[in-house]
Amino acid sequence: MPNAAVPSSLITSLVQILGQENVLTDPYNLDRYSGDALSPARAFGAEKAFERLADVVARPASTEEVCAVLKLANESRTPVIPYGGGTGVMGGVVPALGGIVLDLQRMIRILSINPTDMTAEVEAGVVLEDLENALELQGLMPGHDPYSVPIATVAGAISTNGVGYRAGAYGPMGDQVVALEVVLPDGRVMNTRAVPIQSSGPSLKHLFIGSEGVFGVITKATIRVFRQPEAQVFAGVAFDTFDQGFNASTEMFALGVRPTLVDLTEEDEGIIFHLLFEGFREGVQANEQRALAICTEQGGRLLGPGPTVAYWQDRRQSAENYKVEALGKPRSVRWSRWRGRRGFDYLHLGLPISKVLEYRKQADVILAQHGVRVIEYAIWSRPELFSMLIVSESGVTTGSRERLGEAVEQVLQLAQDMGGIMEYCHGVGVKLNHLLAREKGAGQEVVRTMKQALDPNNVMNPGKLDL
Ligand SMILES: Cc1cc2nc3c(=O)[nH]c(=O)nc-3n(C[C@H](O)[C@H](O)[C@H](O)COP(=O)(O)OP(=O)(O)OC[C@H]3O[C@@H](n4cnc5c(N)ncnc54)[C@H](O)[C@@H]3O)c2cc1C
Repeated sequence: MPNAAVPSSLITSLVQILGQENVLTDPYNLDRYSGDALSPARAFGAEKAFERLADVVARPASTEEVCAVLKLANESRTPVIPYGGGTGVMGGVVPALGGIVLDLQRMIRILSINPTDMTAEVEAGVVLEDLENALELQGLMPGHDPYSVPIATVAGAISTNGVGYRAGAYGPMGDQVVALEVVLPDGRVMNTRAVPIQSSGPSLKHLFIGSEGVFGVITKATIRVFRQPEAQVFAGVAFDTFDQGFNASTEMFALGVRPTLVDLTEEDEGIIFHLLFEGFREGVQANEQRALAICTEQGGRLLGPGPTVAYWQDRRQSAENYKVEALGKPRSVRWSRWRGRRGFDYLHLGLPISKVLEYRKQADVILAQHGVRVIEYAIWSRPELFSMLIVSESGVTTGSRERLGEAVEQVLQLAQDMGGIMEYCHGVGVKLNHLLAREKGAGQEVVRTMKQALDPNNVMNPGKLDL
């Protein structure tokens, strides 16, 4: 039965455009499409956003069908929430105000791979792993390699500007985007040109990178691809202190040494710097030699390739587990994965290099005051990108979740107060909305003005990016 929140005439029109089998209104599907990997347990203060379910799920197969759905939605002022793999961790696809969840998973064609242009043109819903497999057949690879390769889509990664294991050399997903085809909120189609650099006016593709679908629906993307590396060298380095490893990473970046993988992790077992060097043979050799010399100067002990090869081979396991246990399952199944475990959160902050170590000290004090322990500190891909995996020291006890939430709030604000940002790769979703204006200042007014101009009916993913 159609949900009463959208007119039945809208459902009828959707069925005319997409066919009955691509318009879902049954409770099971409405539930499982109403959210991503964010559970209310981690959504401190944003729990209300989970109260609404999608009213209908629409599954277009082409740009034309996306246009038709957006025109309909605009006429009836119905929210549209683009849905890629549904693997986001901030609630970007939560239908906070109900409406149409627009599932892009039928748009999965790899349209072209061009080894001369070093680009691939793909539809929005292509899963990263499928692109990787197609490129591999031609001796190529993508630059974006997150944990979630087996489950996330190209347009989802663009819309969150995700970061992956190879970002040390290739940058985040946004850096991979050469051109986009986008359906604007009123149903018009906009294409940018497939040339990586331009000086003819503002770069419009950037309006959609990291924008969580609030300005339109990405339907196609032309992304950069790279040759499979001629040489690949893994190296692990142990340090006695995080600061030593951090200083090694800053020296590498200052000098222009560019490992593909940069992962400095501190856990109870110790501190290890995982490095990977890839590319043409002479470049790899030079980068490796200099990077390891820098690590040794900073007190590092070379561990050889073993630990890093093992870490690399295991890097997608969490996503494989997610695929089996949670992906596409009802919300109760997804949310129960963490039930009974101690409260936790993961924070991915960006700070100027000069502030990172001081930030860590101050954050440690705040977290300890709230009974929260850090079980992992890390630098991922660049020295500016600092992450912490935190848990309630006491497990799940009275007030432990509130204390965890308060601690998270304070350390995110601390990052902003020290000139940084609260999140570097997962977006804002419903979880971080309330802190965005604090970070952007007048910039948030600019975003609001652009939103008003492009989407006066606030149809596209309302309630996200604090809009
Ligand atoms: C096990 C696991 C591991 C992860 N590892 C990483 C990691 O290493 N690095 C990382 O950055 N993230 C990681 N994530 C988070 C997640 O995979 C990324 O945020 C990913 O980029 C989201 O892609 P998706 O296709 O699932 O997007 P979705 O979750 O479906 O959507 C994300 C956002 O993009 C919008 N969107 C989706 N498609 C479109 C479109 N066509 N047009 C406009 N807007 C659109 C949605 O509305 C939403 O706001 C991980 C998640 C899990 C569960």
